[in-house]
Amino acid sequence: MIRIKHPASTNSTTSLEQRRSLAIVALTPDEFYAHGLNAADAEGRLPLARMTGWDISPFEEDGLRVAPLRPPALPEPARNGEDPADCDACRGRDEGVWLDENWRLARIGRVGVPLILMLYPREHLDLPDLSDERAAELGVLTAHIGRHIEALPNIARAHAMRVGDGAVHLHIWFFARPAGQAQLYGSWLAVWDDLLPEYPDAVAQADAETVADALAASYGGHRSDGN
Ligand SMILES: [Zn+2]
Repeated sequence: MIRIKHPASTNSTTSLEQRRSLAIVALTPDEFYAHGLNAADAEGRLPLARMTGWDISPFEEDGLRVAPLRPPALPEPARNGEDPADCDACRGRDEGVWLDENWRLARIGRVGVPLILMLYPREHLDLPDLSDERAAELGVLTAHIGRHIEALPNIARAHAMRVGDGAVHLHIWFFARPAGQAQLYGSWLAVWDDLLPEYPDAVAQADAETVADALAASYGGHRSDGN
């Protein structure tokens, strides 16, 4: 349920609150922006996030400040692959460390964590476009890939996520967290990945091939020579 925590004392916001109590719908872009500004300072800066207070935060709070909240920009900029003829993922539809008829798994290079793998449908599909059959395959593949990454030596966890703001073509991220590096717990991992020096490429490729072989054995498909 959507609640406005700190309604301003204007008539328009009060009527918005009343309307919300009658019809539960998402805030419009302008309403969401106004809602955010309610909690911001005169420059539009929100207070530091609770996450920056966690002891696993990569940033110390001293000297850190939040960027001013920007107003909504509509229509949103186009994502890569809005025109399938110009889709990077489609251009690589035969590339990866593992492939089957419908899916491919590729390694992302030049990263800070020990391994990042990306799972793509070979067809030009976004998450809402998946048939139930493809969606069921995605569920099984996600479990198998997570299991095989977590079976690698010195890897404690495989984080799986779909974001999708940059490209239309569905791409599921698998981040491997190094064992014992407890400061890299949780959702800060993607930021730590960007801060850490590049992980040795040959080691990551060997681990990707181990995952690909295990996936071919447990699920099907085949390892490919690519990365
Ligand atoms: Zn595509």
